[in-house]
Amino acid sequence: MKRQSNRNFFFAIMAVRPAKRLKNWHFNADKTVMIGTQNQKFAENEIVFREGDEGDCAYLIEYGQVLVYLEKDGVEIPLKILGKGEIFGEMSMIDNSLRSASCRALCETRLVIVTQEQLLDRIQSADPVVRLLMRALLERLRDQNFSIKGIQTEMNPIVSEKLALEKQEAIERIELENRMSLGLKNDEFSPHYQPIYDLENNEVIGTEALIRWKTSDGQLVSPGVFVDVLEQSSLILGVGQMMIEKCVTDLKHLQKKCDLNKDFFVSINISGRQFADPNFLDHLESVRGKAGIPAHHIKLEVTERIMTEGPQAIATLQNCRSFGYRIAIDDFGTGFSSLQYLASMPLHDLKIDRSFVNQMMTQEKSLSVVKTLIYMARLLRLNLIAEGIETSQQLLLLRNLGVKAGQGFLFSKALALNDLISLLNQESKEQAA
Ligand code: C2E
Ligand code: CA
Ligand code: CA
Repeated sequence: MKRQSNRNFFFAIMAVRPAKRLKNWHFNADKTVMIGTQNQKFAENEIVFREGDEGDCAYLIEYGQVLVYLEKDGVEIPLKILGKGEIFGEMSMIDNSLRSASCRALCETRLVIVTQEQLLDRIQSADPVVRLLMRALLERLRDQNFSIKGIQTEMNPIVSEKLALEKQEAIERIELENRMSLGLKNDEFSPHYQPIYDLENNEVIGTEALIRWKTSDGQLVSPGVFVDVLEQSSLILGVGQMMIEKCVTDLKHLQKKCDLNKDFFVSINISGRQFADPNFLDHLESVRGKAGIPAHHIKLEVTERIMTEGPQAIATLQNCRSFGYRIAIDDFGTGFSSLQYLASMPLHDLKIDRSFVNQMMTQEKSLSVVKTLIYMARLLRLNLIAEGIETSQQLLLLRNLGVKAGQGFLFSKALALNDLISLLNQESKEQAA
């Protein structure tokens, strides 16, 4: 899963505590070293590391005390005394620079080692704004150390180039978030609807709401550009509520204007973060109740990422089901799919991701995945919806494999509400003829 919240990231940093550095101990010998499995005692006044040493690990103090200090003209300048539970030595480990201060034990001290490998993956997967913040804090601390010694610093050009790129990425992300926040205020987001068909009789049985963003200057921004950033920020809560409100109002409108299948549903994509919001169900219920639409006409599409949002999100999902909402699992098979999750989630539908549908005619493996998903869905009594059907050959194969419902450009792309109304009315005329 590609996404990790800032809070989780900081927590990961703080939770990964340290310990001791064994002399002659090589970190690369075994990259599977676990946190806390390497530790060492230091006697009073024993040096842990010196300024200018390579900084390839950090330390957590299990017990005892250390002094972090600088040396100037042979004189020790104390910076900080650290005790049990505190972390140190992380600065040079994070950006691969040399130690900018020295450290010695003040009494008998036991340290736990945190290796670079343990942190780098987490740092790389963190939000770019968090990475920039972390770097800024490191630079500030390091500059303080150097200025105490009266040294002017010059950054290594490679590090400086990397930092410039990270800054650019962070700036772009903040700008995008700000533009989205303004877009929400200016009502620039709205749902378009992709019809979902019964593959046996070509009847439209429902529709998936897909967010569209038209900026005030008329520019259409692709969901590929903004949805990930949106879902990683708290803006998804406001935008998600707005989507629910518009989808419910639009469904009401569709019911008036079209002769819909009696179980016609609108499927709304909901991010894990929305489910983790304790107000989610209250808001959904209040919007639905005001519109007077039975809950089973609303389908909530979730991805496996919901599993990383904690127990509140899962509890909300369970409650949604018990209130009568239909639940579909989206993009199954593209993330960290687990059969255990699948069996434990309160689902009605499983959506076959379009990447499998797209490749199943040419790649034996994709076809095997599709067949396996069909088999699993049968065992777990889930309905299947195939996504991304683009050709009549794909449609035929899916039908032959027993898939009952699907959507894709072969039928229709996502449409504005009025275009959906025209399509539905046209199709009912054709069905009646
Ligand atoms: P998704 O939920 O898997 O939605 C299906 C995507 O496949 C849509 O892309 C749709 O336009 C596209 N698609 C449908 N049929 C075909 C086809 O035959 N061929 C191809 N190549 N593509 C097809 P879209 O609209 O760009 O949305 C991308 C993703 O953004 C969605 O993937 C969903 O994960 C997310 N998303 C969209 N709307 C919302 C929303 O309201 N809330 C949240 N949280 N996420 C949303
Ligand atoms: Ca979806
Ligand atoms: Ca999908």
